[in-house]
Amino acid sequence: MLTTNEIRRQFLDYFHRHDHEIVSSSPLVPRNDPTLLFTNAGMVQFKNVFTGHEHVPYNRAVTSQKCVRAGGKHNDLENVGYTARHHTFFEMLGNFSFGDYFKERAIELAWKLVTEEFGLPRERLLATVYVDDDDAYNLWRKVAGLPEDRILRISGSDNFWAMGDTGPCGPCSEIFYDHGPEVPGGPPGSDDEGDRFIEIWNLVFMQYDQPEPGQKVELPRPSIDTGMGLERIAAVLQGKHDNYDIDLLRGLMEASADLSGVSPDGEYRPSHKVIADHLRATAFLMADGVMPSNEGRGYVLRRIMRRAMRHVHKLGVREPMMHKLVPQLVSAMGDHFTELRRVEALVTETLKMEEGRFQGTLERGLKMLSDETAKLPDGGTLPGEVAFKLYDTYGFPVDLTRDILRGEGMALDEQGFHEAMERQRAAARKAWAGSGEAAWDTVWFDVRDEAGATEFLGYEHDTASAHI
Ligand code: ATP
Ligand code: MG
Ligand code: MG
Ligand code: MG
Repeated sequence: MLTTNEIRRQFLDYFHRHDHEIVSSSPLVPRNDPTLLFTNAGMVQFKNVFTGHEHVPYNRAVTSQKCVRAGGKHNDLENVGYTARHHTFFEMLGNFSFGDYFKERAIELAWKLVTEEFGLPRERLLATVYVDDDDAYNLWRKVAGLPEDRILRISGSDNFWAMGDTGPCGPCSEIFYDHGPEVPGGPPGSDDEGDRFIEIWNLVFMQYDQPEPGQKVELPRPSIDTGMGLERIAAVLQGKHDNYDIDLLRGLMEASADLSGVSPDGEYRPSHKVIADHLRATAFLMADGVMPSNEGRGYVLRRIMRRAMRHVHKLGVREPMMHKLVPQLVSAMGDHFTELRRVEALVTETLKMEEGRFQGTLERGLKMLSDETAKLPDGGTLPGEVAFKLYDTYGFPVDLTRDILRGEGMALDEQGFHEAMERQRAAARKAWAGSGEAAWDTVWFDVRDEAGATEFLGYEHDTASAHI
């Protein structure tokens, strides 16, 4: 059985053999894109290459890119623990063509890798194409020999990618793996959000340029951008349905089980998943210079850490535990990502301190919350005021409260929460009036975080530039 580390290697080697330059992962904090919270895809480090603003001495590249999707346009934080396929931190394997090969070669390279190198059974694979992309449809027929009923035409933004309102864009084609009828879930594009059909690889055909919003012109030299989740392909290759059962994550789940004395497979499985995932996100974010704080990126990290700590508490552990998992992570991933070894001590110490500090308020906040939910009927809705108090007095990020309520089959009055937040902001604005701009940044960042901004644009504003 191939290990996750071997699969990463095999992917890089395969494309290297096909004349792709192996490029290292860029950091999680994007260097060249102030509009983005975290690197969330392999193409991020190549944005300026695709637009022609930057030149590199190769026209094909392959990477395994560190990604975090825990805020902004792609936010999978609230999926973690509950789906088989989502992480906040994951690795995206990708091959890129900068005006070199296009659709046909991209489909051929992908198909050969999954069916010949990785040896996946063809009858388990499906492809989606953008609704009017006949080229791609025909290529899946011709190159891969896929039968018509396993090529699905999908409309909507999932299958049409754009860098922004202007710039490169084009149709996508996604490869799905069918984990079998025993897993609940409908086919790609259906409303049934199960995990039977798992998207393993997304191919983006950068075919057009948008000089002005809404205007589309064919690019003279179209490009290719692809992304495949390492953990998802590892699950398939290791005969697992759930990403958290692959060697790398299973090791962390078991370490968490050993420390807590709670089985990784029973009722508390979601908690172990959250702990394993959030530990990785925490360590990798710190390795790239993010530290927990109350605003911007640091606040996203703090939210991740606190969400994990709540699950540690849920396992019945009443002392800091996350930091004890760090050695396991470093031994599993430190050979490829040497930065982990460099920050091991910092991560350990910071986790220990943050956990220790949060423990008291977590305890009291949970007590307050359970007193409040006890007053509610089954499936009830928690008043927004309570969630606000948990946020304001006990340091509960709202996603933490939401996560607890979800576990109890309850909902949050989101509207009420926002109103309470707004009232506090209005008061803060009044209090800060005339005292300089620094405080406005904080308020502004909070607004973005809480509003779940579609894209993180904070750094474009002059007042926030001091944070760069
Ligand atoms: P999904 O629909 O399953 O949420 P996606 O369409 O949002 O995935 P893409 O943006 O196309 O994902 O990213 C490219 C690939 O990266 C996906 O095909 C998948 O294999 C992987 N991937 C995306 N998000 C995650 C995640 N949160 N955790 C693990 N792998 C992911
Ligand atoms: Mg997604
Ligand atoms: Mg998708
Ligand atoms: Mg996709």
